[in-house]
Amino acid sequence: MALLVLKFGGTSVADVDRIRNAAFHVKREVEAGHACAVVVSAMAGHTNQLVALVDQAWGFKERRKQNDAEASAQYDGREYDAVVSSGEQVTSGLLALVLQSLGMRARSWQGWQIPLQTDGAHRAARITGVAVNELKARMLEGEVAVVAGFQGVAPGNRISTLGRGGSDTSAVALAAALQADRCDIYTDVDGVYTTDPRVVPKAHRLAKISYEEMLEMASQGAKVLQTRSVELAMQKGVRVLVRSSFAAPGLAGKGDAANGLGTLVCHEDEIVEQNVVSGIAYARDEAKVTLLKVADKPGVAAQVFCPLAEANINVDMIVQNVSDDGRHTDLTFTVQSADLDRALEVLRKAKDSIGYLDLRGSTDIAKVSAIGVGMRSHAGVAAQMFSALAEKGINIEAISTSEIKISVLIDAAYAELAVRTLHSLFGLDSR
Ligand code: ASP
Ligand code: MG
Repeated sequence: MALLVLKFGGTSVADVDRIRNAAFHVKREVEAGHACAVVVSAMAGHTNQLVALVDQAWGFKERRKQNDAEASAQYDGREYDAVVSSGEQVTSGLLALVLQSLGMRARSWQGWQIPLQTDGAHRAARITGVAVNELKARMLEGEVAVVAGFQGVAPGNRISTLGRGGSDTSAVALAAALQADRCDIYTDVDGVYTTDPRVVPKAHRLAKISYEEMLEMASQGAKVLQTRSVELAMQKGVRVLVRSSFAAPGLAGKGDAANGLGTLVCHEDEIVEQNVVSGIAYARDEAKVTLLKVADKPGVAAQVFCPLAEANINVDMIVQNVSDDGRHTDLTFTVQSADLDRALEVLRKAKDSIGYLDLRGSTDIAKVSAIGVGMRSHAGVAAQMFSALAEKGINIEAISTSEIKISVLIDAAYAELAVRTLHSLFGLDSR
């Protein structure tokens, strides 16, 4: 007998038929003799509707129009959480009912009933503890625990939520607390791919991926798992299997991980055959900012980046050239597209203290990254990558690297070509 956590995302519980389908996956595991906890998201789209209601109640749009300073200050996060957490309450009750209708013992658990404790950072709270004693005892007696994801209880006994996409994190935290054998994340794709299959039809599903690579893939736009859930899984050593709930439940037999279904996210030691590069990620949601002719002297970078940090704008890649006259240089960096206007505004305001000739912003760029833990022990990956892009006539505007990742900034028009080129270059095309 194994202890399993199964998590079903919004599309996997989108209506009662889908919930029934999820229940069959649970039934299969129960019949195999496993003790199961099931974490559910809200029905697809439901959380967005709830957020829209909160916006409406708070008159968010009108306030923004009137340029009310408070509009950007958030509404009472405790009430936001009280409203948006309710989607998961609905699906947990519905799944428990369906399981019962299929002859299984099951009950729903809200975050506060477990309790799953969080800090007081409403709307994006962090989990501080999960008390699983009673829940686990009942699981071991054969009762399926159906847990509302995304929610917990904050100090002061108020309902909290874990940030959008947070039910992945609920599932991993629960798996860690239960010391579960595995945490299965059921979703609408059958695993993690070497790159986006819509861009590269030859992309293939990875049987295994390391936590670190998954973190890079997730933050690069492969939106399969909430980043925080992967960090937590890595920290606690929770083995996470990403798999499809859409495959017929009856067909997916016992020991799916062993049968090669889905993608197992695990420690790299568990991965025997490791490619140098495991995946190619791309992101189009970054924007480029260039400051022309800034003074080439100590302190200037601080004058540029401190006001951006104060405005809570995240900077990703940074390139600064050496100046030919020893006095002036150009500085280029990237921010999220959504932050571009604010970044330009901040820099315009700081023009006198920074001192630059001109300021430019553009969103016609894409970031393409090669990711793989194998890079740690292989030289020349960057050189190979740059040559291949050059051969296709793709100009590189900026580069950033980490131990297991090389990212280049290029013209958005070449994003797909670059992804395809690198996917073949590193031997990832399926045969
Ligand atoms: N329902 C929440 C959301 O849409 C949490 C989740 O689905 O993970 O963000
Ligand atoms: Mg999700």
